[in-house]
Amino acid sequence: MPGTRVFKSATIIAGLNAKTVKGDKASEYATAIMYLAPAKMAGGANLCAMAREAGCDPTHDNGGCLVNSGQAQVFSSINRARIAKTQRYLADRAAFMAELVRDIERFMKWCDKHGVKPAVRLNGTSDIQWEVAHPCIRFGGYYESLFLAFPTVQFYDYTKVYKRVYRQLPSNYQLVLSYSGANQRYADAVTKAAQDTGSNMAVVYRTKELRDYFVDKLVQYGETCRDVIDGDQTDLRFLDPQRVIVGLYAKGRAAKADTSGFVVR
Ligand code: SF4
Repeated sequence: MPGTRVFKSATIIAGLNAKTVKGDKASEYATAIMYLAPAKMAGGANLCAMAREAGCDPTHDNGGCLVNSGQAQVFSSINRARIAKTQRYLADRAAFMAELVRDIERFMKWCDKHGVKPAVRLNGTSDIQWEVAHPCIRFGGYYESLFLAFPTVQFYDYTKVYKRVYRQLPSNYQLVLSYSGANQRYADAVTKAAQDTGSNMAVVYRTKELRDYFVDKLVQYGETCRDVIDGDQTDLRFLDPQRVIVGLYAKGRAAKADTSGFVVR
């Protein structure tokens, strides 16, 4: 796209195609996203603990995972690269964390150069619990997590691992729950987690029209009854008001064709 500035590294990528507009908070940020191979796509460990239950596992019954959206569904080389990256993460976590630290530092410099603030989404296509068992080293110092190592970077993710929102998370890490009606037990637990903790909850609707129909309406899912906002205007979930349902519409072949209940009709 002409005029698009792109940040590329071995682990995270970002694009910037809008000028910073005064008063528009979203345009003040650039988001770097990491795309790994979800669930067990790379073999070995499962990167998405709740994917089976939530009906989005792309390696099982064609779940509606975002890994099959956009260009990745067309270019299998993109998914091959994600698998290779994930295998590096699984084989040597410490070395991978060192790569991430280096790339986030480079991204911060890039943001500085372009006059925007850095935001990072580590789970573009995974659901890793980065707040536990992912220490790192920065400038010779040991940190329990990347969030503590980079206090001036805003991190955020969507998650189906609802137990994560009950944890005391660092103030620069925002988690949004991801609803799925594929399984009543999961739907009950995720709506209860939203209610218990006040966390926002994203709901993916079948079409843009359906999402638009629900925007600005009070909608009930299990224990959660909240206003729906248009979540597609920006992906910067940390700028959303609190205690809302983030309404999104299905993108990509798998999500559009999803019949599991992950995508709401
Ligand atoms: S939608 Fe999220 S949790 Fe589900 S398989 Fe994809 S990355 Fe994992």
